Amino acid sequence: MKAIRRFTVRTHLPESIAGLSRLATNLRWSWHPRTKELFRDLDPQAWSESNQDPVALLGSFDRHRLTELAADASIVARVQDATSDLDRYLTEDRWFQQDFIGASGGPGGDIPTPRPIAYFSPEFGITAVLPQYSGGLGILAGDHLKSASDLGVPIIGVGLLYQSGYFKQSLSRDAWQMESYPVLDPDNLPLMLLKEEDGAAAIVRLPLPSGRTLHAQVWRADVGRVPLLLLDSNVPANDDTARSITDRLYGGGGDQRLQQELLLGMGGVKALRLYARLTGTEVPAVYHTNEGHAGFQGIERIEELMSAGLDWETALTSVRASTVFTTHTPVPAGIDRFDRSLVEQFFRAGLAPSVPLEHVLALGAEDYEGGTPGVHNMAVMGLRLGQRANGVAQLHGEVSREMFKGLWPGFDADEVPIGSITNGVHAPTWVSDTVSARAIELFGTSAVSGHDWQRVFDVPDAELWELRRTLRCALIEDVRSRLRSSWRKRGASEAELAWTDSVLDENVMTIGFARRVPTYKRLTLMLRDPERLKRLLTDPEHPIQLVVAGKSHPADEQGKLMIQQMVRFTDDADVRHRIVFLPNYDIQMASTLMPGCDVWLNNPLRPLEACGTSGMKVAMNGGLNLSVLDGWWDEMYDGENGWAIPSASSAASTEERDDVEAAALYSLLENELVPRFYGAEPSDQAGAAGPSDASTDGLPHQWLAMIKHTMATLGPATSADRMVQDYVQELYLPAGRAGRMMDADDYARARELASWKTRVRAGFGSVIVEHVDSLGVAEEPQVGDEMQVSAYISLGQLSPEDVRVEAVYGRVTTKPSGVLEEDTLADTGALELTPAQDLGDGRWQFTGSLVIDRSGAFGYSVRVLPQHELLASLAEMALVVNAG
Ligand SMILES: *Cc1c(COP(=O)(O)O)cnc(C)c1O
Repeated sequence: MKAIRRFTVRTHLPESIAGLSRLATNLRWSWHPRTKELFRDLDPQAWSESNQDPVALLGSFDRHRLTELAADASIVARVQDATSDLDRYLTEDRWFQQDFIGASGGPGGDIPTPRPIAYFSPEFGITAVLPQYSGGLGILAGDHLKSASDLGVPIIGVGLLYQSGYFKQSLSRDAWQMESYPVLDPDNLPLMLLKEEDGAAAIVRLPLPSGRTLHAQVWRADVGRVPLLLLDSNVPANDDTARSITDRLYGGGGDQRLQQELLLGMGGVKALRLYARLTGTEVPAVYHTNEGHAGFQGIERIEELMSAGLDWETALTSVRASTVFTTHTPVPAGIDRFDRSLVEQFFRAGLAPSVPLEHVLALGAEDYEGGTPGVHNMAVMGLRLGQRANGVAQLHGEVSREMFKGLWPGFDADEVPIGSITNGVHAPTWVSDTVSARAIELFGTSAVSGHDWQRVFDVPDAELWELRRTLRCALIEDVRSRLRSSWRKRGASEAELAWTDSVLDENVMTIGFARRVPTYKRLTLMLRDPERLKRLLTDPEHPIQLVVAGKSHPADEQGKLMIQQMVRFTDDADVRHRIVFLPNYDIQMASTLMPGCDVWLNNPLRPLEACGTSGMKVAMNGGLNLSVLDGWWDEMYDGENGWAIPSASSAASTEERDDVEAAALYSLLENELVPRFYGAEPSDQAGAAGPSDASTDGLPHQWLAMIKHTMATLGPATSADRMVQDYVQELYLPAGRAGRMMDADDYARARELASWKTRVRAGFGSVIVEHVDSLGVAEEPQVGDEMQVSAYISLGQLSPEDVRVEAVYGRVTTKPSGVLEEDTLADTGALELTPAQDLGDGRWQFTGSLVIDRSGAFGYSVRVLPQHELLASLAEMALVVNAG
């Protein structure tokens, strides 16, 4: 019978165990083993049936069971203990309060009570019970919030609540990816609806074309100390189309995607305002957009200022100062781009009515060399709206500067104002509970929360090897059960599946490869020479085994074909006991897979992997990385913490490149990894003197030494605590300061900077470097010689205070430039020249004395740049006049 009405009945807990409800709704339980154990011990079977979901677990108890629990003194004591621990965690001073703004008043000593930082992301991967992510970007956002919470950094997350999240993956009999979209009921999720004082849902509204309105309610998740606001368009006030705007993550076409992003950005700012009003808290001081999707947040904030009477330039100046933009991908297909006409159509419906439309469109225009007309590029808009921007690893910073240098014409790529902060992972989430429990037993403290990673050197080899084996066994058990259930879905009968009980071997070197399946990650590179891989898998003495997983975006046929090719290989009866593909890669699978792998394989097409984080999670658990030198590995590989697969970037074709890199991968496995894992050193095989490593106690000591070195060095370096601290110090604090300065005294400095910018932009076209002299250079100059540089510059309407004139000097290299050759400067330094003489008519002589600091081909040039103390970089305005 069809139900005509539906209610969600929330479990009402007896007084003595009422704390369970807060423990279940604050997601801190997900990275706090003691709280997790408490839930498990309430009813181990129900815990496992609920898929380790505290809200579902509590909902599964009937009144009788609840009364029993409430009368159990030991449970009651544990609930009280856990709730007071949570209270302490939520209120005590942590890193941000103690060490950062603490006694010294913090760097600069002028931090008032800090206002929060808003962190926008289209996806958040926090726990399996809130499946609102597709891959690395979302997991990173989740880890960012968790570490911010642990560190006491006042962040507020802003995202969307998708009714079906991302899809669930299964396989058809012939190995084709199948997608399903189970619908989530927000009432059964650890979420609270944001409500007005009268109890009605607080609503965010955006105008849509044809007089329609998009309404969204706002859910709040508590990630430890960090509130996460999630906008949800599935409300009765919407028509059906508007209701389904937040139905799926990365589903739908451009039109739906644009509406999701308008809701995330503009609606997100409105949600922050609602939240501040309803909780009596301060509005954020800094706005950080994780990738370009939330870029419209800047437009909404400009609208707030312009509707209060500020002009465009002043409003933009103020908003830019407090905005941080992080770019996450050098893959062009990964960058959000819309038809400009579509953006125009939506804004004409009445979004940001005080902001002139041409300004909105100009922010996303690809009006630079190599750009496409008619496109609204969200990354470009992010860079134009954020005074501070970064990539997510050192190499990615470099690649991003090159990729976006068209926005700063006249500047070399290394001057493009995009820095980098390398991603990290949240250790308490990703270090297996088995490892942290052992650390507590051995050292009385979980090494991971104490940052005391060096302690791993105190663990005896035998003990560490046994721990690794325990983790491998747990993985194997999980693999077998997942494989069975996958084969059942693929239509196999129980009788056919006996073989799955003995899949994988607890003594065999286990390699993992799991991630999303875009082409550049090259899921199938290992299949380049299938016979060679087969030999490795089936070696009678020293085999390897592989666990593979990954989802392909539903619209990506190429990715699905790669999965099919992989699954067909794993279906082969000759190898199926040594290589498996597990469907539906997610946080839950990752939490057993990553600790269980001895080796983590990563073979993207360099340099397309911006950072990559899964290898970090593996390293924290004592696995070793075997990876192309891309993303984080490019800066953290040190020769002793794993292996580098060489890149054949100069190969003639991608085919050839794949051949060469796959061959290098196989040979590393055959010659380096396998012998070392099984306790023989490669040099032993070559007949070197000395006893074989394994001959004494059967332990692979060299492998274990690599594990210890990896955990001790990569543990702290790859931690999200390090990442969040970097963001606070390098970006949030300066952005907060700049924003505060701009806005003080009724936006006095923003007005000043804005009118200065307008004047300088208008006048800069007439700046000319007329003539440059150098005096005092000998016929054959020597290192240490000084020369007097004199530049005659026409500044037109500008004055010397508006500009910085500098001599840029360095090593000269000659590069082909078309048919000619051109001298260019490398390893440059800059010397500021000072005004020496007013020559009248806006003409000035600038001088300085330049010390020749190197031998060989030396050269210099002179350039003029706008200069103002409130600019964050010399390239910020993308204006420069170079001599010659
Ligand atoms: C860590 C993680 C990712 C990101 O992995 P990359 O190495 O960055 O590709 C994706 N999915 C899940 C489930 C993860 O845990």
